Amino acid sequence: MQFCDHCGSMMVSRDGEMVCTADDCDGTSEKDTDLAAQFTSTESQTDSEVIETSEEANFEGKPTATDVTCDECGHGVAWYTIKQTASADEPPTRFFKCKECGYRWREYN
Ligand SMILES: [Zn+2]
Ligand SMILES: [Zn+2]
Repeated sequence: MQFCDHCGSMMVSRDGEMVCTADDCDGTSEKDTDLAAQFTSTESQTDSEVIETSEEANFEGKPTATDVTCDECGHGVAWYTIKQTASADEPPTRFFKCKECGYRWREYN
């Protein structure tokens, strides 16, 4: 079920596109080009994200590992991401970032 972006009425498929059923509305499912242009702007990408490498990705919000020990401060909880850095038949590398001091390291499985 799809509803019109313009008036909220139910839409029906007609000639390969979704068309609004309301008599006084000509809404279709075709994307508003102005809106699409906004979404493709580079505003959401900050400078820091551009220069980050895979090892320095943003760890905030990532899962945490508690079976680790930070080499810097000895803290036992760190964010981690898993990256397949080599060929697919080799195990992935885990990248850690200490939740206490922010120290980063990697672990080879
Ligand atoms: Zn409509
Ligand atoms: Zn630490």
